[in-house]
Amino acid sequence: MVKVAKFGGTSLADAFQFKKVHDIVKSNDERKYVVVSAPGKRFKEDNKITDLLYLTQAHVKYSVPYDPVFNIIEERFQTINDELKLSVDLKNEFKIIRENLNNKCEEDYIVSRGEYLSALLLSDYLKCDFIDAKDLIFFNYDGTLNKEKTNEKISHILKGSKKVIIPGFYGSYPDGSIKTFSRGGSDITGALISSAINADMYENWTDVSGFLMADPRIIKNPKQIKKITYQELRELSYMGASVLHDEAIFPVRQAGIPINIKNTNDPNNSGTIIIGNDQIDGNYETDHIITGIAGKKNFSLFYVHKEHMANEVGTIKKALEVFENRKISIDHVPSGIDSFSIVLPSDSVDKIDHEIVEEIKTKCNTETVNVFKNLSLITTVGINMASRPGISARLFSALGNNKINIRMIDQGSSEINIIVGVEDRDFELAIKAIYNAFVQ
Ligand code: ASP
Repeated sequence: MVKVAKFGGTSLADAFQFKKVHDIVKSNDERKYVVVSAPGKRFKEDNKITDLLYLTQAHVKYSVPYDPVFNIIEERFQTINDELKLSVDLKNEFKIIRENLNNKCEEDYIVSRGEYLSALLLSDYLKCDFIDAKDLIFFNYDGTLNKEKTNEKISHILKGSKKVIIPGFYGSYPDGSIKTFSRGGSDITGALISSAINADMYENWTDVSGFLMADPRIIKNPKQIKKITYQELRELSYMGASVLHDEAIFPVRQAGIPINIKNTNDPNNSGTIIIGNDQIDGNYETDHIITGIAGKKNFSLFYVHKEHMANEVGTIKKALEVFENRKISIDHVPSGIDSFSIVLPSDSVDKIDHEIVEEIKTKCNTETVNVFKNLSLITTVGINMASRPGISARLFSALGNNKINIRMIDQGSSEINIIVGVEDRDFELAIKAIYNAFVQ
């Protein structure tokens, strides 16, 4: 079994956290490829090294002395080096970075130094090889990833190697200069390495033990999700549950590699495993019927009714064109026999909703077009729901028993989720009602 282990910024925020990462990596020989972020926040008001690097670059750009900010960065790395009694020649590393700063280096180079130095320190601490991401991850000049070259180089350089430490977040252009991913991009580095070496597992170490079944700000101590499919995760994240970068999921999903979200501060917790539909086993069935609940407030619903619409062709299309012509993306179109609704985030129709109503009336030749605002959408997700009768009855009774008015219902044809629309003021209560009906 071969694992890629990616550690996020909070996992490497100071010497104490480095020690935890050291122990986690040491404790399992399967963790062969270790990808690191730059040190993150040690406490709430603290700064991430990457943010300070962006700030340094801004100083250089506007010709303001950058030392006050840059010294903070140097001090943070130096403290880790000293406290762990490491022997990285940071003086020299910072001298090189300063020279480059004085020569007005590119922003991507400077902001990538957090990951670079973090990996240097960890490789010294673990006595493993450091491999620079610029030799593994390759971009084209237009900024897109050169997938073939990246895959080829990673498998060539890493296959069969001993334990190695690799900085996340960046790679290089054809001329060797540094190019970073978007923020949070170390997740992508880990995913690309996992897929290129065909790892058995991509471990993503952070400061929470995976995903919870509902937002802990609404549900007290929600249960942890032990296993979730990529498809379920997509539904939950679309509705606001905060998860991994889409770009980070793609390479491992395609290669059929499971992702394990783990907590550096609680390494014995099994965390959440994200798997493909084809990796569902018997155990999955016996877990909860639902996998998770997520939702968002502030949607608007345009309700369109037209007598005998069922006998007409093209009415829905005409209404949809009103949004398409304004390049407004819509989320749901639940429909009845002589009516349908169009649901989308309120901020995209802010101030123009009445104009839209009038336009739909004219185009669809009907008088009954109403707009309802302050709608919340709540999705209840679970791959196990599809095969079981009575699930929607349970969900709707739970809402009814709590006197919550349901304004909209939508079930994806894949039957892995049921979406209900309720008024914003009922949002929290509705999530509690659904959670209690299925989980408690
Ligand atoms: N350090 C980078 C950031 O803060 C990349 C990462 O941590 O994934 O965005």
